[in-house]
Amino acid sequence: MRRQLAQHVAGERIVESWADLERITRPSVREFVEGTEGTRILDVCRWGKQLFMPLDSGAHLLIHLGMSGRLHLEETPHESSTEPPERKHVHAVLSLESGHRLVFTDQRTFGELGIAPNRSFLAGKGPDPTDAAFDPEPLVAELGRHRVKIKAALLDQRLVAGLGNIYADEVCFLAQVHPATLACDVPEDGRRAIVAQLRPVLEQAIAAGGVTLRDGMYQDMFGTSGSYRPHVYGNVGNPCSRCGAPIDHGKLGTGKSARSYHFCPRCQIL
Ligand SMILES: [Zn+2]
Repeated sequence: MRRQLAQHVAGERIVESWADLERITRPSVREFVEGTEGTRILDVCRWGKQLFMPLDSGAHLLIHLGMSGRLHLEETPHESSTEPPERKHVHAVLSLESGHRLVFTDQRTFGELGIAPNRSFLAGKGPDPTDAAFDPEPLVAELGRHRVKIKAALLDQRLVAGLGNIYADEVCFLAQVHPATLACDVPEDGRRAIVAQLRPVLEQAIAAGGVTLRDGMYQDMFGTSGSYRPHVYGNVGNPCSRCGAPIDHGKLGTGKSARSYHFCPRCQIL
């Protein structure tokens, strides 16, 4: 998404802004609209799952897709730019000087839009494995200090930024570590194997345009589905690509905060 935005909206001026949902707009709809309208998008950046665009005003436009947030780039004549499209779940429209408009939709509204005066929104976020300056060794050591399941540690954006359910399962599978092992109980070579998978997995997934599940929810800015095929996530009952055993799944935690995990019961022993 960042790559498409960088190609198509970096350098553009936002002629008009519209947003409608206070709950997902920081600090408020009014401040988001006032802070973005009339500004020029200088660049499109990403840290972990957080997309952000430095503006010529010095502020940053923030976009977090959450579970179901999507961005579309649409061609439209300037005259109609203030009218939000007649589609469901549209929560923001940025009309650009080129005549395109950037439309943010979010069915489940776990996404987030915002305007921020500086980069303090990145404070507390862990290293991004796709960052050129990423250093694996401190993360190998850090993971060993946590008494939580290794998959939960990998999902904790304060420890490492950018992994969700699919990719956390993926790196555990590739490193042959059971996702429910306590992070501090994963031997150092296991932790090193996991950390070594982070960048290649994320880079391959980015190159493939991400993962589009059977729900068809995730699409890129032009409606194209991702073609990355996870080894374990979404493959319960299918043979493991390494040993042929049927892929299994389990749960971390209980109740609302429970997270599922997917693994090969033969390659990933608890
Ligand atoms: Zn296997």
